[in-house]
Amino acid sequence: MTYTEPGLATTRQVKFDLNERPFIVIWEMTRACDLKCKHCRAMASPQRDEMELTTKEAKSLLDDIASLGSPKPVVVLTGGDPCKREDLLELISYSRSLGLATGVAPSGTPLLSSEMVTNIRHAGATSMSLSLDGADPDTHDSFRGEPGSFELTLDAAITAISAGMRLQLNSSVCKTTVMELPKLAKLALELGVITWSLFLLVPTGRGIDLEALSADEIEDLFHFCVDISQIIPVKVTEAPHYRRVLAMRAALSESGEDWIKRLNPGLLYYELRNQFDNLGIGPKINQTTDRATTKRPPLAINAGNGFAFVSHRGDVCPSGFLPISAGNIRFEPLSVIYKTSELFKNLRDSSTLNGKCGRCEFNGVCGGSRSRAFGVNNDTNSDDPSCNYVPGTFQI
Ligand code: SF4
Repeated sequence: MTYTEPGLATTRQVKFDLNERPFIVIWEMTRACDLKCKHCRAMASPQRDEMELTTKEAKSLLDDIASLGSPKPVVVLTGGDPCKREDLLELISYSRSLGLATGVAPSGTPLLSSEMVTNIRHAGATSMSLSLDGADPDTHDSFRGEPGSFELTLDAAITAISAGMRLQLNSSVCKTTVMELPKLAKLALELGVITWSLFLLVPTGRGIDLEALSADEIEDLFHFCVDISQIIPVKVTEAPHYRRVLAMRAALSESGEDWIKRLNPGLLYYELRNQFDNLGIGPKINQTTDRATTKRPPLAINAGNGFAFVSHRGDVCPSGFLPISAGNIRFEPLSVIYKTSELFKNLRDSSTLNGKCGRCEFNGVCGGSRSRAFGVNNDTNSDDPSCNYVPGTFQI
């Protein structure tokens, strides 16, 4: 029998209509940043762009987001580096005064002092996202292009948690960073993060020059993530087929089958697991997979479908990794662009998917990364080339 269960058991569903409003809005406050990260989607540089949204325009954007009704979308202020804007604290306070859950994603630079982290908290930020791509200064700092970034980021993480913020740790995954993941998982566990978010490389911005994992390696990585999600809340960004792997593992678990025999993971899975197990942390991971054993199952949102990105100049895109503008908030509110633009409507309609993703029985729970489909094939509706699944082949 071909698998038909939509995978709800292992996915958190948003409890309102995603055609009406997004679950989360990411605003790129500025492209200015003092780091020179190898993967940077924004191709950031230290100088601010004169065309950035002004404080007044930013407040209008936040007013519009708050007008969308309850539950109000989550707002994340990102960059570049939000600390490069002198109105950061003012805008956090304003966002909170509108009742918006507000997170900040600053860069690990000297601007992110303990005092700054505390001020961000006092201004009203409820969460902070910080990036570590390597588990020690050598690996992280060389990826981020700035000596000292590892220590600054770690200090900020500890201060953020002490100040009462929820901490999300972000890690970029490509060939050069993948074997850092077991040690980063240990760090995430020790820090007590609310989410460890793995960003799978999308070939856009400076990320074009990095080598992505192959589709088979990504499958191995997902199995590693499913395993450790029993003890660490793992999220995978720009890789919705993680939800397909979770659903397959849950289905096999329910039918009492050994997932290793059926899904036959490759060498990378065993390397990651061995390295993680040798670190001797956490409770033993068992081989069953369901919602009860998965910490914070992934949310069923994708680019343009529950997710919206506003660029530093006000362009509204489905994701920061899908740089197609559906309109600009200087001319039309985000709330209208999200709901009515053809680009966003197309991305919310799984019947418009082509090729393998269009035929796939998992496209309701997954749908593939539209950003990667665009980045690789220049077509938002095409296959996600990072998925090795052959539709119709998973039988239970
Ligand atoms: S083929 Fe497409 S829809 Fe199916 S699991 Fe892979 S990425 Fe998702």
